[in-house]
Amino acid sequence: AGDRAAMAEAVTAARPPPDVDTDDCLREYRHLFSPDILAGQVAFITGGGSGIGFRIAEIFMRHGCRTVIASRNLQRVSEASKKLVAATGQQCLPLSLDVRQPQTIVAAVDEALKEFKQINILINGAAGNFLCPASALSFNAFKTVIDIDTIGTFNTSKVLFEKYFRDHGGIIVNITATLSYRGQALQVHAGAAKAAIDAMTRHLAVEWGPNNIRVNSLAPGPITGTEGYRRLGGKFAQEASQFDMIPLQRAGNKTEIAHSTLYLASPLSSYVTGTTLVVDGGSWLTSANNFPALLGIASSSAK
Ligand code: NAP
Repeated sequence: AGDRAAMAEAVTAARPPPDVDTDDCLREYRHLFSPDILAGQVAFITGGGSGIGFRIAEIFMRHGCRTVIASRNLQRVSEASKKLVAATGQQCLPLSLDVRQPQTIVAAVDEALKEFKQINILINGAAGNFLCPASALSFNAFKTVIDIDTIGTFNTSKVLFEKYFRDHGGIIVNITATLSYRGQALQVHAGAAKAAIDAMTRHLAVEWGPNNIRVNSLAPGPITGTEGYRRLGGKFAQEASQFDMIPLQRAGNKTEIAHSTLYLASPLSSYVTGTTLVVDGGSWLTSANNFPALLGIASSSAK
C-alpha cells in the first residue's frame, strides 16, 4: 500500500486542476493551453448559465473566446454573464431560449449574429436529468428528457447549420454521458437520450464534414459542483467510498470537463470528428451500477 501511495504521489498527470463547487468563476487559473487558442472565436453554449456549461464558458473566455450563453431562465444566464465578464474581461451575451422550441433558437441565433457577426463553436449542453426506475417513469417524463436532450440538440445544431455553419464551417460539441454503455440503473430516459445524441454526432459528422464542420460528443463521468452530481447521488457515492472503484479513484471537476471541451473546440483536434471523448477517470469501466443501492438514493431524495 505504501508503494502504491508513493506511486500515486509521483504521478501528476491525473491531478485535477483547482475548481469551485458553486456557479462562480475560478479564483485562480493557470493556462495549460495557449491563452489565445480561441482568440477571435465566438461560442454559442446552451446550458451555459450553470454547472458544466458555465465552466466551459469561463475556460473558453479565458482563452480569448467571446461567448453566448443561452437557457430558459434569462435571469440565470444574465447573472452568470456578469460573473464571466468580470473574471475574464471577454464579452458574453446572455440569451433566453428553450431548445425544444426552434423559433426561440432562431431568435437567439439571430440576436447573437447581430451582436458578433459570427458563431464558430456550438456547445450543446442543455439537458435535464433525475434518477427514476423505468417502472415509475411517466410517459411524459421519458418524452421530456428526449425532447430537451436529443431533439434539443438536433434543433440547435440545425439552426446553427442553416444560419452560419453551412457557409462558414464550424465546430459542434455535444455533451452526452456514459449512462447507456452499461445500462445504468434508473437512467433509461437520460441514457437513451444521450445514446441517440452520440449517434447524431456520427450522422452529422458524416453529412456536414464536407462543409468543414466537425461534430463530436464529450461524455463526462461524475462531476463535482454540478446539478447532475447533486441529483444523481454523487454525494452518497462519495460518502460510501464508491469513487474508490473508479480507476482514477475520484470524481472529476468542471474545469476538467471544460479543458477536454476546449481541446475538441480548438485546432488541436482539427482531424477529430464523429467521435465521443469519454472524460470520466475510467468510471464507466468499473463503477458498480448497483440497482438496489440506487433505488435507495432515489427514494430518499424524493422525500
Ligand atoms: P445543469 O447545471 O442543470 O445544466 C443544465 C442546463 O441546461 C441548465 O443551465 C439549464 O438552464 C439548461 N436547460 C435545461 N432545459 C433546457 C431547455 N429546455 N432549453 C434550454 N436550456 C435548458 O447540469 P450539469 O450537471 O452541469 O450538466 C450539464 C451537462 O452535462 C448536461 O448535458 C448533462 O447531461 C451533462 N452531464 C453531467 C454530468 C454531471 O456529473 N454533472 C455527468 C454526465 C453528463 P435553464 O434551467 O435556465 O433552462
